[in-house]
Amino acid sequence: MPPLERPDRPRDVTLAPRRAVVAAEADVLVVGGGPAGLGAAVGAARAGARVVLAERHGFLGGNATAALVMPLMSWHTQRPVFERQGVNSLMPDDHGPGHPVIAGFVGDLLERLVTNGGAIPPSLETGFVVPFDPEVFKLTALELLDEAGVRFLFHALASDVLPGRGGPRGVVFETKSGPVVVEARVVVDATGDGDVAARAGAAFEVGREDDGLVQPMTLMFRMADFERAAFEGYARAHPDQWRAVHGLWDLVRAAAEAGELDLAREDILFFGTPHPREVAVNTTRVTRALGIDVWDLTRAEWEARRQLRQLGAFFRKYVPGFEAAYVVQSGVTIGVRETRRVLGEYQLTADDVLGARRFEDVIARGTYPVDIHNPAGKGTVLKRVPPGEAYDLPLRALLPRGVDRLLVAGRCISGTHEAHSSYRVMPIAMATGQGAGVCAALAAKAGRSPHEVDVAAVQGELRRQGANLGD
Ligand SMILES: Cc1cc2nc3c(=O)[nH]c(=O)nc-3n(C[C@H](O)[C@H](O)[C@H](O)COP(=O)(O)OP(=O)(O)OC[C@H]3O[C@@H](n4cnc5c(N)ncnc54)[C@H](O)[C@@H]3O)c2cc1C
Repeated sequence: MPPLERPDRPRDVTLAPRRAVVAAEADVLVVGGGPAGLGAAVGAARAGARVVLAERHGFLGGNATAALVMPLMSWHTQRPVFERQGVNSLMPDDHGPGHPVIAGFVGDLLERLVTNGGAIPPSLETGFVVPFDPEVFKLTALELLDEAGVRFLFHALASDVLPGRGGPRGVVFETKSGPVVVEARVVVDATGDGDVAARAGAAFEVGREDDGLVQPMTLMFRMADFERAAFEGYARAHPDQWRAVHGLWDLVRAAAEAGELDLAREDILFFGTPHPREVAVNTTRVTRALGIDVWDLTRAEWEARRQLRQLGAFFRKYVPGFEAAYVVQSGVTIGVRETRRVLGEYQLTADDVLGARRFEDVIARGTYPVDIHNPAGKGTVLKRVPPGEAYDLPLRALLPRGVDRLLVAGRCISGTHEAHSSYRVMPIAMATGQGAGVCAALAAKAGRSPHEVDVAAVQGELRRQGANLGD
């Protein structure tokens, strides 16, 4: 049976008013426990705030764990040469070794992931990405929150805000125990989707300028019992068929012609993980669907699982090294790349990213390319930041226009569709999270609006926490 679809002539009903239990009063409430939420909660707690983090799932990590989005993309200015890359590597390039532009929470997480045996540090061999184990990621994130003194509430979906003067004074969560409220002096929206900001009345944009389409969704999965040597032998013998992490164009074409593969992309994309006999496959693609629309999400999960079944069979039948491989795990949820981009005091643009622009109110840095998976079909656009350079993310992009007591962090900050395709990656999301958390903590402590906090004080605290502001 096909999934339920959006009704043609929707009928609605009025719900009864409800009362909610107040679970906590916090200085800073962080909504969402993904990369941005983790950075925000730890940043705010280290700045001395009483922090509560609320998350709809029963574990932390967001896309990194729920959607099996692996690895952490590179935060180094350069890419290594193709010949020296293994299956973990990102994209071929010949700019030589670069330098890291993000530190602070990302560095702490990396160090602890490696200590816990769950990640490979960035190097030429990994193409400066960080392959990690999602189960170790979940445990490590919990450790870091515990150590920072962050209290948390799981299985809590933010559905509304408690209106306060100029902005939300709390957030309403749907739980198995009924509606629950967390009150806070400042809220950080790290839902990826800007759910809280939208409920608080913040203006936002969705999709690219000409047709409103967003980047596709992808259900990621892990394949185990893969024979790396056999695959690398094939890749070496067919240099036109594999470029670092993607390719196999001829095999995809052959399977498509045989009626065995029906994908909205022309190649296969996968990454190595810390486990030598495993890869994380990033190849299903559902276009013309929006990750904040329940009808689209339902159809996307349905469609992506059809693609996953085909891909599992394709790998075993067509791809050397995968003869005995099998799908060991898929995401709890399809991965959502792009939804709301909340309009902030400043909107970051592609020119800012590709021009390596600096800002007085820098709170984080990025160097990842503009990377747009075609919202309408096959193909991916990639445009690089100049070799050796990085761009700044200004605090103003985290401050929603016209709404007080609220910051946004991660992939829902203020930027254009093109700029978003760069700053959406997890290390940058963690860094904007840390910036938002620190600003929220200082605002709460001073009893001021986040819009009025002294930028130099935010930057000073971020530096104290080890962040890289490009000094
Ligand atoms: C298929 C795919 C592949 C990608 N590949 C890479 C890659 O290889 N490397 C890389 O670095 N980046 C990659 N990205 C980008 C990256 O994963 C995301 O942009 C990044 O995770 C954004 O972090 P975030 O914290 O802003 O949002 P998310 O990771 O989406 O986290 C949001 C969190 O908020 C929670 N939440 C959402 N709504 C609510 C609510 N209403 N109430 C309570 N909780 C809520 C969610 O459960 C989640 O935990 C990829 C993304 C996708 C989808």
